[in-house]
Amino acid sequence: MGFDALLGNDRLKENLRHSVGRGRISHFYLISGPEGSGKRTLARLLAAAIVCTGAQKPCGICAACRKVLSGSHPDFITVDDPEKKTVPVDLIRKARADMYIQPNEADRKIYLFPRGQDMGVPGQNALLKILEEPPAYGVFILLTDRAEALLPTVRSRGTALAMQNLPERLMRARLTELFPQAGPEEISGAIARSGGWLGQAQALLSQGRQVSPQTEKFTSAFAARDKLLLLQALVPMERWKRDQVLPVLEQWLQILQSALVSRSGVQAVYPAARVLSTARSSQELMDAVHHLQKAIEYTQGNVSVAAVCGYLEWVLQ
Ligand SMILES: [Zn+2]
Repeated sequence: MGFDALLGNDRLKENLRHSVGRGRISHFYLISGPEGSGKRTLARLLAAAIVCTGAQKPCGICAACRKVLSGSHPDFITVDDPEKKTVPVDLIRKARADMYIQPNEADRKIYLFPRGQDMGVPGQNALLKILEEPPAYGVFILLTDRAEALLPTVRSRGTALAMQNLPERLMRARLTELFPQAGPEEISGAIARSGGWLGQAQALLSQGRQVSPQTEKFTSAFAARDKLLLLQALVPMERWKRDQVLPVLEQWLQILQSALVSRSGVQAVYPAARVLSTARSSQELMDAVHHLQKAIEYTQGNVSVAAVCGYLEWVLQ
């Protein structure tokens, strides 16, 4: 198995195979890359490789590997509270205290900090204290989508592992496997817009398929310049709650933006955006984007939902 579960990133995988295979394990790994670039996948494979008892690490079959990969290894500990905007400092302090307790099963104890960019300065200082004097068995893996959000003192301590974006050929093969119902055009659009990050392309493709009935009405109305149909989409929304209206308006905005971009040659992910990009001119799409941005701003502010819908009924032509 090795690191193959991670697509692409050949040099990175080769280096890790080499160093971990020879037992050269760093105390602190800093994995950086944008959202959807495979940081978590790499972290899990790395942790499995570190505790693996098989020959080709990570073997994926030994008990240690299987536990890490299924998230149940007692010596692979995630330090985070996804409910909180900032990773709570007391969690990091707790990890520090816990670190001095010997590992349960493995020779190592591995701590994963999945949101380095959300650790704040106090949190990072607490982490620095851990990194200053880790026990011999301690390993720390920090993930971040913005390495520049980290203190230089944290950054300079880690073995840096930077995720690489994937070549189109690899992405196309994997996405076709994952979304057999998506057409080649839709997949090309997702690849182009994702910047080569598989997770982002996956998110685009699954969002593109979940279009609400309201959105369908809106896009067909706007494409056909059918004011009556547009009213049929908007009028019922006047009675909706703010937090129901917002995601719908945001989806409309995304589709309009995607249609606008696709007029410049980048294929759109949303099938609806492709329709709009041929039905409407760039100027018309730009105007609609502007109106949607305003409507979202109003909805987030103090303007009533009914007034926002009324505004859109008036300005969208
Ligand atoms: Zn193993």
